[in-house]
Amino acid sequence: MRSDNLDIEIIEPMTETEARSWKVEIETTSQKLGQLLYEGYKRDAWRVLGYGSWTQCVTDLAESSGFNRVRGFQLVEHERLKQDVLIAPNGEKPVTNVTEFQTRPLSKLKTDNEKLEVWQDAVKTAPNEKVTASHITNTVKEYQDTKKQSDTETLSTIPIVTQKDKDYFTLSEWNELSKDDQTSILTQDYQLKSKFNPTNDNIEWAKWSWNPITGCLHNCAYCYARDIAARFFPQNFEPTFLPSRLNAPGNTKLPDLTKISDPTEKMGQQNVFVCSMADLFGKWVPVEWINSVLESIRRNSQWNFLLLSKFPSRMADFSYPDNVWLGTSCDYQHTVKRAESAFIKIKESGFDGMCWLSCEPMMESLQFNSLNMFDWVVMGGASSSTKTPEFKPPFDWIVNLYSQARDSDCQVYFKTNLIPGMTDNQRIREYPFEIKVRHDS
Ligand code: SF4
Repeated sequence: MRSDNLDIEIIEPMTETEARSWKVEIETTSQKLGQLLYEGYKRDAWRVLGYGSWTQCVTDLAESSGFNRVRGFQLVEHERLKQDVLIAPNGEKPVTNVTEFQTRPLSKLKTDNEKLEVWQDAVKTAPNEKVTASHITNTVKEYQDTKKQSDTETLSTIPIVTQKDKDYFTLSEWNELSKDDQTSILTQDYQLKSKFNPTNDNIEWAKWSWNPITGCLHNCAYCYARDIAARFFPQNFEPTFLPSRLNAPGNTKLPDLTKISDPTEKMGQQNVFVCSMADLFGKWVPVEWINSVLESIRRNSQWNFLLLSKFPSRMADFSYPDNVWLGTSCDYQHTVKRAESAFIKIKESGFDGMCWLSCEPMMESLQFNSLNMFDWVVMGGASSSTKTPEFKPPFDWIVNLYSQARDSDCQVYFKTNLIPGMTDNQRIREYPFEIKVRHDS
């Protein structure tokens, strides 16, 4: 005998009772999966298991257990609504007897308050008290139409995708958003008054850091940013966008520069190191993230922004306002060629602001054809990280790069971790343009 779709012989048909319990078991299995996933989400299972993020954890579970990843997120959202958001008109909470099919239309709404309001409305107005998915879909649509018409409600929270009260989006979460949601996130007026962070005293030429994007995939062994992220960021080092930080340049008060007489201090108070916990131009970074950061830079000409990338060829694809310094990092010799080509392109594009080269850490002796495309060369060693020990470059590597910098009339700056035992007064600390602090060695 042939079944409907498969060429399988049916040996012993189920009884009605068996078929009914088979159906219930399948329904309960999917419900159970949602409940388990949501419990893991609420109780941070991913962190304990060593995943970089909740998204990574679900993706891995989906692969190993054979369920669809998107379906996994849908089930989590369903459980969240069922257990923690929806309250039946009779006050019942959590709401029982509601299926994922019924709650799915609510995902078109941005806030939990809207979801609750529309849900209760749908329950009250359901024909014959049957709250079908299509009735909920219609109620959502009516709500959206009315809202659009009146245009009075201002959204005050970030659109909810998979988590409550989110103010950051990992790369994988971002890629799952619709274009509309991405646009809404980028254009939202964030209430959070984010500000710059002060840098440590060793960086006198940039007193502020700003990280609207964190996380990096370059995977440098010596990376200390990865160690910091592992300790302090819930999303670990996964590339992540923090849109509420885009307003930090406007929220941070620029010190009164007229009251600062020391030129280095004046420069440092105005300089902001951008994305010290990421590579803004990493090839995985969505172009909208980069554009939103550059837009914020353009809007805040009171600050000077220091951009630094290990992927300078992509940096060369954008155009820049006057209030930036563009830089690239070279650690090994194989990075030299792309740094040269990218900065030749940047200069040829008409950018006449400051271009800098950071060789921190210098992991090999570096030989350039020319450093003419750079104004400033910073050299340093490697501080210890969880994966690598501290490293100081041999003296002849330093002298070699120093000579190349001098041949190209670059200013030079030695970081504190470059030469063991060198005091601040002995270190070469020159700055670009007219600002210089003389060393007395
Ligand atoms: S480029 Fe910078 S942030 Fe990225 S891994 Fe390397 S050291 Fe870390």
